[in-house]
Amino acid sequence: MNPFIIIININMRKQIAAANWKMNLTAEQGQALLSAILSEASLNGPQQEVIFAVPFPYLEMAQRQIREKKGFLVAAQNCSSKKSGAYTGEVSAEMLQSIGVPYCVIGHSERREYFLETGAVLAEKVNICLQHHLLPLFCCGESLSIREKGTQNVFVQTQLEESLFHLDEAQVKKVVLAYEPVWAIGTGKTASTEQAQEMHAFIRSVIARQYGQTVADEITILYGGSVKGANAAELFASPDVDGGLVGGASLLASDFIQIIKALKQ
Ligand code: PEP
Repeated sequence: MNPFIIIININMRKQIAAANWKMNLTAEQGQALLSAILSEASLNGPQQEVIFAVPFPYLEMAQRQIREKKGFLVAAQNCSSKKSGAYTGEVSAEMLQSIGVPYCVIGHSERREYFLETGAVLAEKVNICLQHHLLPLFCCGESLSIREKGTQNVFVQTQLEESLFHLDEAQVKKVVLAYEPVWAIGTGKTASTEQAQEMHAFIRSVIARQYGQTVADEITILYGGSVKGANAAELFASPDVDGGLVGGASLLASDFIQIIKALKQ
């Protein structure tokens, strides 16, 4: 393949540092964290983005704080698969759209595990997000037992097929993928650069088979699983790793700033 084409493709893809705060921080702590990050972090190019997936009650506060910073955006961590109605405690995609939220995380392994979200439910969530102009940040990844059996590729491929492969080309191009091996989330155990690159290249090949190489080359695939300031640059240097989805280290301003700096230019 012509190396020039590869460079063009990488540059076209969004490079993203996404923070997943999960269910952490008070409003005051969240505000202080954002201020500390925003005062130091800057982006190197229009293809870079920083996304803060904050708890629902903080979305508007975070949006206000990042208003002036181009390329800095918020995400919801989840949304309902239902349109509206008697679903106490749920938050709809339409509500998120109505306050201008651009992204929504779908299918995080914690949602799959603790809230029993199936591939079929996640497909509904992806659909409802797209109907309401929310860009899905779709998570996939295998557990330790699957990795030990060596069946991670077929497992991840099935996750993609179940929840995304009903989409047409224009729709799938709106999805950002995050490969998050469950055994690396919050464990301090990061996938090696080789393991991450191997799976990202595999995911891209699966997308290419379904939608063609051009679409596959445009899709951003983030790595998630104990990304820190100290290992981000090495992970993000891999050709198919387009940034990271970061839990623990996104709660530490200095780490997350370093992670943003590690994005490809
Ligand atoms: C995550 O929550 O998506 C995650 C990757 O967490 P951590 O960075 O803490 O492993």
